[in-house]
Amino acid sequence: MEPRVRHFVRNSEKAFADRQLQVALSRTTAKFLENRAAAVAEFPRFEGARESASRIRQEALDNLDAHLARFITEARKRGAVVHAARDGPEAREIAARIAKEEGVSLAVKSKSMIAEEVGLNGALEADGVEVVETDLGEYIIQLAGEPPSHIIAPAIHKTREDVSRLFEEKLGEPYTEEIPALTRIARRRLRDKFFSAQMGISGANFLCADTGSVVLVTNEGNGRMVATLPRVHMVIAGIDKVIPRLADLPVLLSLLPRSATGQALSSYVSVLTGTKRAGDAEGPERLHIILLDNGRTGILQGKYREILKCIRCGACINVCPVFQSVGGHAYGWVYPGPVGSVLAPLILGLPESSPLPNASTLCGACGEVCPVKIPIPGMLVELRGDEREQGLKTPAEVLGMKAYASVMSRAGILEAFQRVAGVVSALLFKERKIERLPFAFSGWTERRDFPAPAPQPFRKLWKRQRGIRPWTR
Ligand code: SF4
Repeated sequence: MEPRVRHFVRNSEKAFADRQLQVALSRTTAKFLENRAAAVAEFPRFEGARESASRIRQEALDNLDAHLARFITEARKRGAVVHAARDGPEAREIAARIAKEEGVSLAVKSKSMIAEEVGLNGALEADGVEVVETDLGEYIIQLAGEPPSHIIAPAIHKTREDVSRLFEEKLGEPYTEEIPALTRIARRRLRDKFFSAQMGISGANFLCADTGSVVLVTNEGNGRMVATLPRVHMVIAGIDKVIPRLADLPVLLSLLPRSATGQALSSYVSVLTGTKRAGDAEGPERLHIILLDNGRTGILQGKYREILKCIRCGACINVCPVFQSVGGHAYGWVYPGPVGSVLAPLILGLPESSPLPNASTLCGACGEVCPVKIPIPGMLVELRGDEREQGLKTPAEVLGMKAYASVMSRAGILEAFQRVAGVVSALLFKERKIERLPFAFSGWTERRDFPAPAPQPFRKLWKRQRGIRPWTR
């Protein structure tokens, strides 16, 4: 997927004006959040599981080279051919070579964000391989000729009405707004492809070092069909997907679907170990695993290494007020939302992605929901500091932040400002809000009212209450 991260502001303006997109986003993100909250409430061990999952992911990163070496040895023992790709071009070249050597003209594919990261489909198609997406959301956007807009719900930006019109236009199917009917259409269209494809392509949710297993977590069962029906299975996965042991899976699986969609468990969890053995009813005769670095080794050595703990659940995306307003396409690359705002600068480079660390209100919600406890808000602040060091901030921004810091670090000046703000607000605010702020601040009130400050500043309340002991109240 060609990055368009620099156009974040322009893309966001377009997204705000798109009524259909706003309807689609509000329907889906609200549902995800509601379901997640219910699933967490029903699972009292959630916080404990977060601690354990965070430790497992940290352990994997602390000794990544050893775990990767073990994974490669175990996967090879069980018949897999393991390839290492330094970057996107190398991954594309390896995938194209595998397709050629295996005589592939049709490939079925399950959802894989890393395949999007390296532009895998385009590379195979350029070599004459038809690649058919089989995840329903991916199938929809492939028909529409669009990139995904969410890591677990790639067609989140489309309403059922959009999908009905698309199926009518591209497939000649009668218009229907019934989701089960739309799903049946996709299943009917895809069934033959599963049986005639020579190769299945998938990503991996986890790679287990001690068994050489590839773990796929899906809700539609297409991942399992992609991995077992065609003669060849090609897996593409980031090196960060490795976990030390198969026994680590239960705790990770107790968090991933709950955080992603609010399910206690996804409909299909497939642990795929090696090629088809004698006596197996199905399975691939050939298994290729491409392990992609694409900047991850560099990230591992730096101050943002914890982002590699990510298990791609999408919870931080769903909870982010910025994503809820602009959707995934505005971010201009594969990973949207808070996780994307950290990953894009690290993989594509900060100059290429510099709007993204600022695409956050720093409300902290992403850090609170992350099942592996990645401190995303702190990383976004740190990246803003890096922007300044790399000369990517405008002089006005630098000056503004200096002025802000100097006020915030001097109690007397802050107090004086609060007094002035109190007087001004009494003049400007009507019914405890202001509908339009002037000059450079107008962006704040473009899509919402600016609330009036509290009648009494906190500092004043604090001063007044400081001397009062609780028992004297
Ligand atoms: S950063 Fe955390 S919340 Fe966001 S996708 Fe990754 S694991 Fe999920």
